[in-house]
Amino acid sequence: MSAFVTRFAPSPTGFLHRGHAFSALTAYQAARGAGGRVLLRIEDIDRTRCRPEYEAAIYEDLTWLGLEWERPVRRQSDHVADYGATLRDLSERGLTYRCFRTRREVAEAIESAPHGALEAFRGAPLPPDEEARRVEAGEPYAWRLSLDAAERALGGFSALTFVEEAEGPDGEHGLVQARPQLGGDVVLARKDVGVAYHLAVVADDALQGVTHVIRGRDLFEATHVQRLLQALLALPTPAYRHHRLLTGPDGKRFAKRDGAQTLRELRAKGMTPQDLRGELGF
Ligand code: GLU
Repeated sequence: MSAFVTRFAPSPTGFLHRGHAFSALTAYQAARGAGGRVLLRIEDIDRTRCRPEYEAAIYEDLTWLGLEWERPVRRQSDHVADYGATLRDLSERGLTYRCFRTRREVAEAIESAPHGALEAFRGAPLPPDEEARRVEAGEPYAWRLSLDAAERALGGFSALTFVEEAEGPDGEHGLVQARPQLGGDVVLARKDVGVAYHLAVVADDALQGVTHVIRGRDLFEATHVQRLLQALLALPTPAYRHHRLLTGPDGKRFAKRDGAQTLRELRAKGMTPQDLRGELGF
């Protein structure tokens, strides 16, 4: 009946903090207003950083906040093979390449690019014989999306638009022209982790029928990249609402490292869910 489906998609790499509560409450409020649904999705493909105790804490903290969700919850680590198949599809179409560069080499390549540090990384496939030799030698590599190949496949990026129903960091609102160049040749699969964030998010938003992506403005740039992936994979584009980021007294935004702002710490200090909702404007 309802056409409105949004999601809250935390990564269990730390305890939820005030910023997460704001994000979750924003999504739930929007869904309630639209007579829609909120899906909870656990984004735990980065096994090097995710921990089961953080996932358990997500359920506990959201329950404390008074939020409910449908079950089963989609956990990305259960679907790694599916993301791998999507990646192979892109690769077979010549849209990706193996990148053997280390983090430092990528940073150096960006710095020495003609436009300096503002330019995101753009690389190129290695000559086939060198690539084969390095794969054979067991050198680790990441899979990157080739913007050049994507541009050729789509005949340019000008048809890539998305609707911003809230506001981007520079006041973007309404129909936004996607500029995937902002992200450069993004990593689709990391050396250590397998499939990376963008691919999994785009695949899941489509699979789960998400009509509205509600998340923080820190992910606005990611939307430009994700819009490109949707086009390459012939997936629908949801509407986007990027909400403001909460900042602490020092003007800096909350991060998982700010232990004192975690929901469990606030709870331990005697804060009630009503107090927090009130403080966050819900
Ligand atoms: N898992 C991401 C995070 O914790 C959010 C991804 C998204 O909302 O698209 O920041």
